[in-house]
Amino acid sequence: TRITLVRNVSSGAPTLEDFKAETVPTPTRDSLGNDEVLIRTLYLSCDPYMRGRLSGRTDSYVASFKPGMPVDGLGVGIVEASTSSELKEGDAVTGAGFKWETKFTAPAKNFTKVSSSGGVSLIDYLGVLGMPSFTAYVGTVTLCKAKAGETILVSAASGAVGQMVIQLAKARGLYVIGSAGSDEKVQHAKDLGADVAFNYKTVGDLDAAIKKAAPEGLDVYFDNVGGEFLDAALVNMKPYGRIAECGMISQYNATPENAHHIKNLMYVVMKKVTMYGFIVTDYYTTPVYPEFVQTVSAMLKDKKIQYKIDEVAGLENGPQALLGVLEGKNFGKRIIKVSDP
Ligand code: NDP
Repeated sequence: TRITLVRNVSSGAPTLEDFKAETVPTPTRDSLGNDEVLIRTLYLSCDPYMRGRLSGRTDSYVASFKPGMPVDGLGVGIVEASTSSELKEGDAVTGAGFKWETKFTAPAKNFTKVSSSGGVSLIDYLGVLGMPSFTAYVGTVTLCKAKAGETILVSAASGAVGQMVIQLAKARGLYVIGSAGSDEKVQHAKDLGADVAFNYKTVGDLDAAIKKAAPEGLDVYFDNVGGEFLDAALVNMKPYGRIAECGMISQYNATPENAHHIKNLMYVVMKKVTMYGFIVTDYYTTPVYPEFVQTVSAMLKDKKIQYKIDEVAGLENGPQALLGVLEGKNFGKRIIKVSDP
């Protein structure tokens, strides 16, 4: 089975009809070229950046999916056959080139060998040790240099990135405020250590809610949502505050008619705020990556970290699982389980 894209969706919300599940012949070891691997897919990651890849736009940092071709993204799988000297049958691998297929062939160089030893499970390479978790580290630690005694606000606080921002910030001695879209998610943010958390859908005036949580203002805002929430955060920044501009998910399904236009950008000038726009992939080849792995591995070893995974069973449910992330239907890091490890 594989999931292909039917058509690009440039604006508005994509629907299930924009995807197709197809049955195709399963590739075998005979179909391998030089330095290739045949992979059985275990887990596939559903990430908000994939909305951009559905769009067909050509000016982004990552190529769009093409109609008729399988969707692809981050995943974990098992090598079933290999013509590469680097990877052998039985190896577990991860990488960004996972086709949304139960089995597929691809160049071996696209994958990194991983193992499930030392209390780490294979799914953790998409979870606590995965890309969104690293994103939280880059934004909070490397760029905003969040430090003890400061106040940080994070939106989409119970999600893949947000739950890690809370825990990294708490570990560094910050006062942490989280916002999320349901009372259960708010409770999860508190369970992870947030000092205050609120439901942005029911709290009413966002500016007032942030002021109540941080009367002195914010040193750091970790922005996952953009839109109206970013406007409310901007007016609450302290002088010389920093914003990790990680994502703007509230706008990913927007149309030109209902897109939110930021009103309070002048606060960046008035409060001398620094906004760090960043893409995590730039940091994998820098010393920040081993630093992240070391920090999180140590926290895992000391049982000082929790990471909620929202597992959806079956590749055929992939499109729904992905579209749900853009509507807040996930609770924790959403991952599709395709087959058993
Ligand atoms: P999450 O696991 O947090 O899932 C997305 C969450 O966003 C939903 O659960 C929902 O939470 C919230 N959301 C969805 N729609 C809206 C909306 N219309 N308005 C407000 N909130 C909404 O996703 P990730 O942690 O993987 O990603 C979080 C952000 O980080 C995204 O913007 C993503 O693009 C960005 N990102 C950026 C990277 C980079 O390199 N710059 C790398 C990885 C992620 P709730 O119910 O609480 O509203």
